This record gives sequence, C-alpha cells and structure tokens, in this order.
Amino acid sequence: MTEKSFLESRKADIEYNLDVINERIAESAVKSGRNPQDVRLMAVTKTVDPIFINYALDYGVKLIGENRVQEMLRKKPDLHLDGVDKHLIGHLQTNKAGQIVGEVDMIQSVDSLKIAKEIAKQSVKKGITTDVLLEINVGEEESKTGFSMSEFFETMHEISEIGAIRIKGLMTIPPICENNTILCKYFEKIHNIYVDIKEKKLDNIDMNILSMGMSGDYCEAILCGSNLVRIGSSIFGPRIY
Ligand SMILES: *Cc1c(COP(=O)(O)O)cnc(C)c1O
Repeated sequence: MTEKSFLESRKADIEYNLDVINERIAESAVKSGRNPQDVRLMAVTKTVDPIFINYALDYGVKLIGENRVQEMLRKKPDLHLDGVDKHLIGHLQTNKAGQIVGEVDMIQSVDSLKIAKEIAKQSVKKGITTDVLLEINVGEEESKTGFSMSEFFETMHEISEIGAIRIKGLMTIPPICENNTILCKYFEKIHNIYVDIKEKKLDNIDMNILSMGMSGDYCEAILCGSNLVRIGSSIFGPRIY
C-alpha cells in the first residue's frame, strides 16, 4: 500500500468508527430518557499521531483527552483545535501541574487534596480558575488512581473551599467486570453520588459532568447516567506503545 492510500484508509476507518459510535451514543441517550446531544463524546488521543487526531477533529469531534502532560503539550501545536475542548484525563503529578494549568479546559483526574491545592496554586499564579472533575476509584482497586469512596466524602468539602478551582463533576473507571449487571452497579453507585451532590447545590460545586464509559462499556455507562464518554481505541484502533 502506498503512503497515500494508507492514510486514506485510516481516515475512512476513523470516520466510519465515529459514525457508528455517534449512533450508539444517540441510541443509548434516548433509551435513558435523554437527547442525543446530552451526552458528549471525548476522543481519547493517547499514543495517536496528530495526523489521525486531526481526521477525527475535521470530522466533527469537539472534545479530546490526553493522559500525559508532556504528550498533550507536544501534540497541541499540530492539532486543528478551533472550537475544540481539551481535557487532561490521566494522573497528574504535583511537579507537572504548573505546565498543564491554563493549557487545558479541564482536569478530569483530580485524585487527592494535594493535587487539588497545587492546581489551585498554579491557577492563582496565572490569574485563572481551573475546572476539574474529582476521580473516584469506585472499585477501590490498588492498581487505580482516584479517591476511595471514604476519602472522597472526607475531602470533597475541603476541596470545594479551595479558591481558583471549580468542581464540575465526577469521573470514574470501573473494574473489569464479569457481566453488565455488576458493571452497572459500579456506574450506578457513582451516578447516585453525582445526583445527591447536584441536588444539594453546594457552594463552588457545579455538578454537571459525569464522565464514565470507555470503548468497551460506553453504552452501559450512558444507560446508567453518564453524560461524557471517553473513547480511544474504538475510534483510532488498538494503541501501539
Ligand atoms: C485510555 C483511556 C480511555 C480510553 O480507553 P479506550 O478503552 O481505548 O476507549 C478513557 N479514559 C481514560 C482515563 C484512559 O486512560
């Protein structure tokens, strides 16, 4: 295959994948009693070359997510980002906060009081407010980042009182589950917390975003109340590290 035909077939694949995904998102949204436009699609772009990311952006993707600060900063100048939101979705180290604050529209992966304070400090330095999601490790798994349920309830209020950051919602990655019944219990647990906090209308917490669902489980996540799905490999193909 020539270079040109390789790129053209990748472009066609990405566009086809996006059509299928958008259709499934719309179906799941309607099934859960909402409108298709109530659920946002994020294209997760880790390890993906900017050429291919731009195919997705040119085809209408309005939100991208990267896991790593350096990778986001490196790719940014090459991307077609007009009207596109950028979120950090991977664990953020304290010493990298200064580099990413102001460079993304949201940090979805706030998983400790310490990092929340550091993001706030860096936001003050830049004279901005940073939107964040609190990440919950719903399966309490050793291998995953995110607040445990008890840490979350202990620290949420304290985080909400830090200036220069605004809590916009919750993010989670459930454990790998044997079946959808078990999977949905995890999603519903986080959805219930989201609704509870939203109804309390707490100061500095503007619960609007429930970020759950990836390539393997986004329909289930939407059926359980997710309004932002983060999809990588189903758009771009398997990741090559
Ligand atoms: C990689 C990643 C995704 C996307 O995973 P896929 O299974 O490829 O869709 C979503 N969320 C986070 C936090 C990720 O790191």
